[in-house]
Amino acid sequence: MIHIDGSHNEGGGQILRTALTLSLATRTPFRIEKIRAGRKQPGLLRQHLAAVRAAAQVGCAEVSGDAINSQDLTFAPKEIVPGDYNFSVGTAGSTTLVLQTVLPVLMLASKPSLLTLEGGTHNPAAPPYDFLAMAFVPVIARIGARVHTDLITAGFYPAGGGAMKVKIEPATNLQALVLTARGEVRRRTARAVVANLAHSIAERELSVIAKKLRWEPSCLKSEVVPSRGPGNVVILEIESENVTEVFTAFGERSVRAEAVAENAASQARRYLAADVAIGEHLADQLLIPMALAKGGIFTTLAPSRHTHTNIDIIAQFLSTRIRVDMKDNRSCAIEVTV
Ligand code: ATP
Repeated sequence: MIHIDGSHNEGGGQILRTALTLSLATRTPFRIEKIRAGRKQPGLLRQHLAAVRAAAQVGCAEVSGDAINSQDLTFAPKEIVPGDYNFSVGTAGSTTLVLQTVLPVLMLASKPSLLTLEGGTHNPAAPPYDFLAMAFVPVIARIGARVHTDLITAGFYPAGGGAMKVKIEPATNLQALVLTARGEVRRRTARAVVANLAHSIAERELSVIAKKLRWEPSCLKSEVVPSRGPGNVVILEIESENVTEVFTAFGERSVRAEAVAENAASQARRYLAADVAIGEHLADQLLIPMALAKGGIFTTLAPSRHTHTNIDIIAQFLSTRIRVDMKDNRSCAIEVTV
């Protein structure tokens, strides 16, 4: 039984999700205490509970402590069962985080799975659907994952009501990921998306993007999407020769549309200025699929606390070595050796 300290470093939900995934992958039971101790409202929220339940179903696990607000949990998986599953968060909590909990083991299973996930698809502080589909899935495809995603309905915080379908086929020919240079930028797209809000919000956001990033009008698109509640997100897609990265910022009550666009623009500028292949968020999310496949190496921004935390939790389950080589104070190479 592995013991995990949920208050370690980042002290958030990711420690739990990483432990669930690696417990499934290695069929090693674990006990986690002080779940999300680093957060204002500690313990399991609906989104984390949905990840526990999804992992328990996929891994036929015995679980104790799986209740809202619980700060201790024991999880003991038996076998991985690929197949058709419906995972509903029950609130606007992130469906992409639930997906990322089970995807690394389902992609290594011998049969396909078809997942329907319901809840939030566009949440701040989690991978938005567009990031999943345009950045995460294409990169893990390079290590052999065969994943196809479909957005059914966008679900924004706090109303939720979103849904996506994800087909995961057995990985063939696992490869090491080698992404040390992003290459020339080939295409830039800025999308300002609104649901049940004034279209002028999207127009204001795009004009900030045009000014701050000096992107041509042909790169800018506004979109109105149906959703249960109001929502607004700015999505910047930067397609380079070797990799596509996606940067997002969400509209919020009492935050000006201009500030939302500036936030997205500054994330994109930081990435472009650092001359690395992988952005901050993709970096922490790639470590598990790489550790479970054939490892590899990528260049990225200075590692976030999420990245450091994931490295530490991976070391508790696997003998994989993960090395961070700082290039300067804003970029590094991360090497995963299995
Ligand atoms: P908590 O409520 O405890 O903070 P959580 O479970 O919602 O926890 P974290 O533990 O903070 O979330 O993990 C969030 C994950 O979402 C990380 O993998 C992070 O890289 C990812 N993430 C956050 N923002 C973005 C973004 N804009 N684009 C892509 N991924 C993101």
